[in-house]
Amino acid sequence: MAQNKPKKSGHKHKKQFGQNFLNNGRIIDQIVASIRPKADDHMVEIGPGEAALTEPLINVVKRMDIIEIDNDLIAPLKIRFASKPAFNLHHTDALTFDYGQLLEFLPQQPLRVVGNLPYNISSPLMFHLLNYSEHITDMHFMLQKEVVDRICAAPGNKTYGRLSVMMQYACQCEYLFTVGPENFTPPPKVDSAIVRLLPYQQKPFIADNEQAFAELVKQAFSQKRKTLRNNLKGWLDSEQIVRCEVDPGARAEALSVEQFVKLANLYYQLNS
Ligand code: SAM
Repeated sequence: MAQNKPKKSGHKHKKQFGQNFLNNGRIIDQIVASIRPKADDHMVEIGPGEAALTEPLINVVKRMDIIEIDNDLIAPLKIRFASKPAFNLHHTDALTFDYGQLLEFLPQQPLRVVGNLPYNISSPLMFHLLNYSEHITDMHFMLQKEVVDRICAAPGNKTYGRLSVMMQYACQCEYLFTVGPENFTPPPKVDSAIVRLLPYQQKPFIADNEQAFAELVKQAFSQKRKTLRNNLKGWLDSEQIVRCEVDPGARAEALSVEQFVKLANLYYQLNS
Protein backbone atom coordinates (compact mmCIF):
# COMPACT_ATOMS: atom_id res chain seq x y z
CA MET A 1 0.00 0.00 0.00
CA ALA A 2 1.31 3.44 -0.95
CA GLN A 3 2.03 5.72 2.02
CA ASN A 4 1.71 8.96 0.08
CA LYS A 5 -1.60 9.24 -1.75
CA PRO A 6 -2.13 12.51 -3.66
CA LYS A 7 -5.33 14.41 -2.85
CA LYS A 8 -7.95 14.91 -5.57
CA SER A 9 -9.20 18.41 -6.42
CA GLY A 10 -11.11 20.28 -9.08
CA HIS A 11 -8.01 22.10 -10.42
CA LYS A 12 -8.09 22.73 -14.16
CA HIS A 13 -4.70 21.60 -15.49
CA LYS A 14 -2.85 24.20 -17.54
CA LYS A 15 -0.87 23.00 -20.51
CA GLN A 16 1.27 26.13 -20.69
CA PHE A 17 2.63 25.34 -17.20
CA GLY A 18 3.30 21.67 -18.02
CA GLN A 19 0.78 20.54 -15.42
CA ASN A 20 0.85 16.74 -15.37
CA PHE A 21 0.25 15.90 -11.71
CA LEU A 22 1.43 12.65 -10.12
CA ASN A 23 -1.55 10.44 -9.26
CA ASN A 24 0.11 7.24 -8.04
CA GLY A 25 1.10 7.00 -4.38
CA ARG A 26 3.45 4.10 -5.08
CA ILE A 27 5.51 6.21 -7.51
CA ILE A 28 5.52 9.10 -5.03
CA ASP A 29 6.87 6.71 -2.35
CA GLN A 30 9.57 5.56 -4.77
CA ILE A 31 10.63 9.15 -5.54
CA VAL A 32 10.71 10.10 -1.85
CA ALA A 33 12.74 6.97 -1.07
CA SER A 34 15.27 8.01 -3.76
CA ILE A 35 15.52 11.53 -2.34
CA ARG A 36 15.99 10.26 1.24
CA PRO A 37 14.93 13.48 3.00
CA LYS A 38 16.59 14.19 6.35
CA ALA A 39 15.62 16.35 9.33
CA ASP A 40 18.40 18.92 8.74
CA ASP A 41 17.70 19.37 5.01
CA HIS A 42 17.04 22.66 3.27
CA MET A 43 14.84 21.46 0.42
CA VAL A 44 13.77 23.49 -2.61
CA GLU A 45 10.84 22.23 -4.66
CA ILE A 46 10.14 23.55 -8.13
CA GLY A 47 6.51 23.32 -9.21
CA PRO A 48 4.64 21.78 -6.25
CA GLY A 49 1.32 21.71 -8.13
CA GLU A 50 -1.09 20.05 -5.72
CA ALA A 51 1.71 18.98 -3.38
CA ALA A 52 2.12 15.32 -4.37
CA LEU A 53 5.82 15.56 -3.44
CA THR A 54 5.60 18.53 -1.07
CA GLU A 55 3.42 16.74 1.46
CA PRO A 56 5.75 13.79 2.20
CA LEU A 57 8.88 15.99 2.20
CA ILE A 58 7.72 18.95 4.26
CA ASN A 59 6.99 16.78 7.29
CA VAL A 60 10.61 15.63 7.44
CA VAL A 61 12.89 18.54 6.52
CA LYS A 62 13.94 21.67 8.42
CA ARG A 63 13.08 24.20 5.71
CA MET A 64 11.34 23.84 2.38
CA ASP A 65 11.23 26.64 -0.19
CA ILE A 66 8.54 26.01 -2.76
CA ILE A 67 8.41 27.82 -6.09
CA GLU A 68 5.15 27.88 -8.03
CA ILE A 69 4.11 30.12 -10.92
CA ASP A 70 0.39 29.31 -11.19
CA ASN A 71 -1.75 31.83 -9.33
CA ASP A 72 -4.60 29.32 -8.91
CA LEU A 73 -2.40 26.95 -6.88
CA ILE A 74 -1.07 29.53 -4.42
CA ALA A 75 -4.04 29.92 -2.04
CA PRO A 76 -4.67 26.14 -1.71
CA LEU A 77 -0.97 25.58 -0.93
CA LYS A 78 -0.97 28.37 1.67
CA ILE A 79 -4.09 27.03 3.35
CA ARG A 80 -2.83 23.47 3.40
CA PHE A 81 0.66 24.14 4.77
CA ALA A 82 0.36 27.39 6.75
CA SER A 83 0.87 25.55 10.04
CA LYS A 84 4.03 23.73 8.91
CA PRO A 85 7.18 25.41 10.25
CA ALA A 86 9.27 24.33 7.23
CA PHE A 87 6.88 25.87 4.66
CA ASN A 88 7.98 28.87 2.55
CA LEU A 89 6.15 29.60 -0.66
CA HIS A 90 7.47 31.78 -3.51
CA HIS A 91 4.86 32.73 -6.08
CA THR A 92 7.26 33.33 -8.97
CA ASP A 93 9.01 31.94 -12.04
CA ALA A 94 11.59 29.27 -11.22
CA LEU A 95 13.51 30.19 -14.38
CA THR A 96 14.50 33.62 -13.07
CA PHE A 97 14.42 32.98 -9.32
CA ASP A 98 17.59 33.89 -7.40
CA TYR A 99 18.32 30.66 -5.49
CA GLY A 100 21.28 32.36 -3.78
CA GLN A 101 18.89 34.37 -1.59
CA LEU A 102 17.79 31.14 0.14
CA LEU A 103 21.25 30.48 1.57
CA GLU A 104 20.92 33.08 4.30
CA PHE A 105 18.12 31.15 6.03
CA LEU A 106 20.19 28.06 6.90
CA PRO A 107 23.72 29.32 6.22
CA GLN A 108 25.50 26.04 7.02
CA GLN A 109 23.13 23.97 4.90
CA PRO A 110 23.49 23.60 1.12
CA LEU A 111 20.31 23.23 -0.91
CA ARG A 112 18.67 20.01 -2.06
CA VAL A 113 16.50 20.63 -5.12
CA VAL A 114 13.60 18.46 -6.24
CA GLY A 115 10.80 18.72 -8.76
CA ASN A 116 8.52 17.02 -11.20
CA LEU A 117 9.51 19.65 -13.73
CA PRO A 118 7.36 21.31 -16.37
CA TYR A 119 8.90 19.60 -19.40
CA ASN A 120 8.84 22.65 -21.66
CA ILE A 121 11.34 24.52 -19.45
CA SER A 122 13.40 21.68 -17.99
CA SER A 123 16.70 22.33 -19.85
CA PRO A 124 16.91 26.12 -19.29
CA LEU A 125 15.86 25.55 -15.67
CA MET A 126 18.65 23.03 -15.07
CA PHE A 127 21.17 25.40 -16.68
CA HIS A 128 19.92 28.25 -14.46
CA LEU A 129 20.32 26.03 -11.38
CA LEU A 130 23.87 25.10 -12.37
CA ASN A 131 24.81 28.76 -11.71
CA TYR A 132 24.26 27.92 -8.02
CA SER A 133 25.82 24.42 -8.16
CA GLU A 134 28.44 25.11 -5.47
CA HIS A 135 25.55 25.61 -3.02
CA ILE A 136 23.57 22.54 -4.10
CA THR A 137 24.13 19.04 -2.69
CA ASP A 138 21.87 17.21 -5.11
CA MET A 139 18.92 17.53 -7.48
CA HIS A 140 16.22 14.93 -8.16
CA PHE A 141 14.05 15.67 -11.15
CA MET A 142 11.27 14.03 -13.07
CA LEU A 143 11.84 14.79 -16.75
CA GLN A 144 10.87 13.39 -20.11
CA LYS A 145 12.60 10.00 -20.33
CA GLU A 146 14.24 11.04 -23.58
CA VAL A 147 15.86 14.03 -21.82
CA VAL A 148 17.14 11.85 -18.97
CA ASP A 149 18.55 9.44 -21.57
CA ARG A 150 20.39 12.34 -23.18
CA ILE A 151 21.68 13.72 -19.88
CA CYS A 152 23.12 10.36 -18.83
CA ALA A 153 24.36 9.07 -22.24
CA ALA A 154 27.97 7.98 -22.68
CA PRO A 155 30.12 9.14 -25.65
CA GLY A 156 29.33 7.12 -28.78
CA ASN A 157 25.73 6.54 -27.69
CA LYS A 158 23.19 7.83 -30.21
CA THR A 159 21.57 10.12 -27.63
CA TYR A 160 24.91 11.66 -26.54
CA GLY A 161 24.95 15.36 -27.40
CA ARG A 162 25.40 18.88 -26.15
CA LEU A 163 23.09 18.39 -23.13
CA SER A 164 25.06 15.26 -22.08
CA VAL A 165 28.38 17.12 -22.23
CA MET A 166 27.16 20.22 -20.42
CA MET A 167 25.40 18.31 -17.63
CA GLN A 168 28.18 15.74 -17.20
CA TYR A 169 30.77 18.53 -17.06
CA ALA A 170 29.00 19.97 -13.99
CA CYS A 171 27.38 16.93 -12.32
CA GLN A 172 27.48 13.24 -11.75
CA CYS A 173 24.30 12.13 -13.52
CA GLU A 174 22.36 8.99 -12.64
CA TYR A 175 19.27 7.51 -14.32
CA LEU A 176 17.09 6.22 -11.48
CA PHE A 177 13.84 4.82 -12.94
CA THR A 178 11.20 5.18 -15.63
CA VAL A 179 7.65 6.42 -14.92
CA GLY A 180 4.85 5.67 -17.40
CA PRO A 181 2.24 8.25 -18.54
CA GLU A 182 -0.56 6.50 -16.60
CA ASN A 183 0.94 7.80 -13.35
CA PHE A 184 -0.01 11.41 -14.15
CA THR A 185 -3.22 13.41 -14.52
CA PRO A 186 -3.56 14.26 -17.35
CA PRO A 187 -1.21 11.64 -18.85
CA PRO A 188 1.64 13.11 -20.92
CA LYS A 189 2.25 11.67 -24.41
CA VAL A 190 5.69 10.27 -23.50
CA ASP A 191 7.46 8.27 -20.80
CA SER A 192 9.12 10.12 -17.95
CA ALA A 193 12.10 9.25 -15.77
CA ILE A 194 13.75 10.32 -12.54
CA VAL A 195 17.32 11.59 -12.67
CA ARG A 196 19.72 12.29 -9.80
CA LEU A 197 22.24 15.08 -10.41
CA LEU A 198 25.15 15.53 -8.00
CA PRO A 199 26.97 18.80 -8.78
CA TYR A 200 30.73 18.32 -8.51
CA GLN A 201 32.23 20.40 -5.75
CA GLN A 202 35.56 19.65 -7.44
CA LYS A 203 35.11 19.05 -11.12
CA PRO A 204 37.23 16.24 -12.60
CA PHE A 205 38.02 18.39 -15.68
CA ILE A 206 38.08 22.16 -15.41
CA ALA A 207 37.43 24.57 -18.26
CA ASP A 208 39.60 27.71 -17.99
CA ASN A 209 36.62 29.70 -19.21
CA GLU A 210 33.18 28.11 -18.94
CA GLN A 211 31.58 30.37 -21.51
CA ALA A 212 34.23 29.42 -24.08
CA PHE A 213 33.65 25.75 -23.18
CA ALA A 214 29.87 26.09 -23.67
CA GLU A 215 30.34 27.88 -27.01
CA LEU A 216 32.85 25.34 -28.32
CA VAL A 217 30.60 22.40 -27.36
CA LYS A 218 27.69 24.07 -29.15
CA GLN A 219 29.82 24.64 -32.24
CA ALA A 220 31.20 21.07 -32.24
CA PHE A 221 27.64 19.67 -32.31
CA SER A 222 26.32 22.30 -34.73
CA GLN A 223 26.05 19.84 -37.64
CA LYS A 224 25.64 16.32 -36.33
CA ARG A 225 26.92 14.47 -39.38
CA LYS A 226 30.02 16.59 -39.86
CA THR A 227 33.48 15.93 -38.43
CA LEU A 228 35.16 18.12 -35.83
CA ARG A 229 37.52 19.42 -38.52
CA ASN A 230 34.50 20.82 -40.33
CA ASN A 231 32.42 21.98 -37.39
CA LEU A 232 35.38 23.70 -35.73
CA LYS A 233 36.56 25.46 -38.90
CA GLY A 234 37.64 28.97 -37.88
CA TRP A 235 37.93 27.84 -34.23
CA LEU A 236 40.72 25.23 -34.22
CA ASP A 237 42.57 23.70 -37.18
CA SER A 238 43.42 20.01 -37.54
CA GLU A 239 46.90 20.41 -36.08
CA GLN A 240 45.50 22.15 -33.01
CA ILE A 241 42.81 19.47 -32.61
CA VAL A 242 45.48 16.75 -32.74
CA ARG A 243 47.46 18.66 -30.11
CA CYS A 244 44.51 18.01 -27.78
CA GLU A 245 44.81 14.26 -28.51
CA VAL A 246 41.58 14.33 -30.50
CA ASP A 247 41.06 12.92 -34.00
CA PRO A 248 39.94 15.80 -36.31
CA GLY A 249 38.08 13.23 -38.41
CA ALA A 250 35.91 12.18 -35.45
CA ARG A 251 32.40 13.47 -34.81
CA ALA A 252 31.54 15.41 -31.65
CA GLU A 253 29.38 12.50 -30.44
CA ALA A 254 32.54 10.39 -29.95
CA LEU A 255 34.32 12.82 -27.60
CA SER A 256 34.52 12.62 -23.81
CA VAL A 257 33.94 15.62 -21.54
CA GLU A 258 37.69 15.64 -20.87
CA GLN A 259 38.43 15.98 -24.61
CA PHE A 260 35.94 18.85 -24.96
CA VAL A 261 37.62 20.60 -22.03
CA LYS A 262 41.04 20.21 -23.68
CA LEU A 263 39.76 21.66 -26.97
CA ALA A 264 38.01 24.54 -25.22
CA ASN A 265 41.07 25.36 -23.12
CA LEU A 266 43.32 25.49 -26.18
CA TYR A 267 40.76 27.62 -28.03
CA TYR A 268 40.54 30.00 -25.06
CA GLN A 269 44.32 30.16 -24.69
CA LEU A 270 44.73 31.04 -28.39
CA ASN A 271 42.07 33.75 -28.22
CA SER A 272 42.73 35.52 -24.94
N1 SAM B 1 4.81 18.54 -8.30
C1 SAM B 1 3.49 18.30 -8.83
C2 SAM B 1 3.27 16.85 -9.08
O1 SAM B 1 4.29 16.13 -9.17
O2 SAM B 1 2.13 16.41 -9.17
C3 SAM B 1 3.24 19.12 -10.11
C4 SAM B 1 4.21 18.89 -11.24
S1 SAM B 1 3.76 19.64 -12.77
C5 SAM B 1 4.61 18.56 -13.90
C6 SAM B 1 4.76 21.11 -12.91
C7 SAM B 1 4.46 22.21 -11.90
O3 SAM B 1 5.37 23.31 -12.16
C8 SAM B 1 3.07 22.80 -11.98
O4 SAM B 1 2.57 23.00 -10.69
C9 SAM B 1 3.28 24.15 -12.70
O5 SAM B 1 2.29 25.11 -12.40
C10 SAM B 1 4.64 24.54 -12.18
N2 SAM B 1 5.38 25.46 -13.07
C11 SAM B 1 5.34 25.53 -14.42
N3 SAM B 1 6.20 26.47 -14.89
C12 SAM B 1 6.79 27.01 -13.79
C13 SAM B 1 7.75 28.05 -13.61
N4 SAM B 1 8.30 28.68 -14.65
N5 SAM B 1 8.11 28.38 -12.35
C14 SAM B 1 7.56 27.73 -11.27
N6 SAM B 1 6.65 26.75 -11.38
C15 SAM B 1 6.26 26.38 -12.62
